Amino acid sequence: MSDEVDKREIAIQRSKELKGKIEDYMIAKEKIPRGLSTIQEKLITEKREKILDILNATEDDWNNWHWQISNRISDIKILSKIIKLSEEEAEHIKKVEQKYRWGISPYYASLIDESNSNPVKLQCVPTLFELNDEGTLDPMGEEYTSPAGTITRRYPDRLIINVTNMCASFCRHCQRRRNIGIVDKHQSISDLEESIEYIRNNREIRDVLITGGEPLLLSDGMIDWLLGELFKIKTLEYVRIGTRVLATLPQRITANLLSILKKYSPLYINTQFNHPLEITREAKEACDKLANIGIPLGNQTVLLNGINNDKYVMRLLNQELLKCRIKPYYIFHGKKIMGTTHFNTSIDDGIEIMEYLRGYTSGMAIPTYIINAPNGNGKTPILPQYIISRGKNNVKIRTWEGKIFDYPNYPTQSLEDKLYKDNK
Ligand code: SF4
Repeated sequence: MSDEVDKREIAIQRSKELKGKIEDYMIAKEKIPRGLSTIQEKLITEKREKILDILNATEDDWNNWHWQISNRISDIKILSKIIKLSEEEAEHIKKVEQKYRWGISPYYASLIDESNSNPVKLQCVPTLFELNDEGTLDPMGEEYTSPAGTITRRYPDRLIINVTNMCASFCRHCQRRRNIGIVDKHQSISDLEESIEYIRNNREIRDVLITGGEPLLLSDGMIDWLLGELFKIKTLEYVRIGTRVLATLPQRITANLLSILKKYSPLYINTQFNHPLEITREAKEACDKLANIGIPLGNQTVLLNGINNDKYVMRLLNQELLKCRIKPYYIFHGKKIMGTTHFNTSIDDGIEIMEYLRGYTSGMAIPTYIINAPNGNGKTPILPQYIISRGKNNVKIRTWEGKIFDYPNYPTQSLEDKLYKDNK
């Protein structure tokens, strides 16, 4: 046999081996509800029509984000007309609402089907688990890290401005549920001005994240004013917006909002999709509109028990995000927040997912797994171990398939030494 035939035969065998490594995923992914699948699109459309009928509204209403907000579902009777709700579940919601607010945009409610394990239902319909008082309300110590206005500062060169407590849907896993309150409330202009003044006076701040609540629920005029003020600060290099409207209220991405956002660059948007079911046609269209005006998009997933602590779900989610031009950015390990601890997973779940992603999907589809250190001590990346041991002049590495190799590792010699001293 010639050398060429040998090489081709080796490649064919390796390809067969690689094909064998994806078969489990090809089977598993068929069972995961995906917003962009034909079957889910049909279910979502049927549910939308049902909701419009119940709320006596039109398609134009549906596409109007103000209508979506003013018709946020927070009444058990209306919810039970939209989704199957047992008497027991309705009783549980009644108990939970004494303590924690709930509300679901009609759009987000249209993603709920009749199964109890529906990942959208688990994220927005209250359950009795929320009355477990384990955990704290502010594990990140945000209230101890606000030097002015509505700022949170945890790092040398960047900070957060919190602009509102309002959300399109109130996520049951929310880490800021202490801020949600009883009524919608944007931060006052004077507090925002104090925050902007702080950034102006602290020249080392080069990166600002606007967050909430849901910052894109500010009016177009307020968003324009806030971005305008921030972009006037010469020492600020770029601004980020953290939003969940792409998952819960894609109607918010209007032509007028796009024309405002387009004026400010560099502007980044980070969103939060937690399950492939949330990536629907409407969500994708909203993402496309933002990407088309040049805004880079990233996704920050929260690792949630029963929703996405599964290697196949997380892989599909990250691959679906890339179709929408969203780069998977972080997977956050869930914090011990009072009322949300039933969503907590072990760190082992997160490491298993990271172990499974590397090599099995594109590097572009692999976010960083993060634990937020207690009391605002910062994001700490968690990785499976790929360096087995370190010797004087080599390291032992483990590949994604578990193959072990020795790899040379010599001290770096400066270019100056290489070019001049070695040649003397
Ligand atoms: S949108 Fe964000 S701030 Fe609002 S409830 Fe959900 S996670 Fe919390």
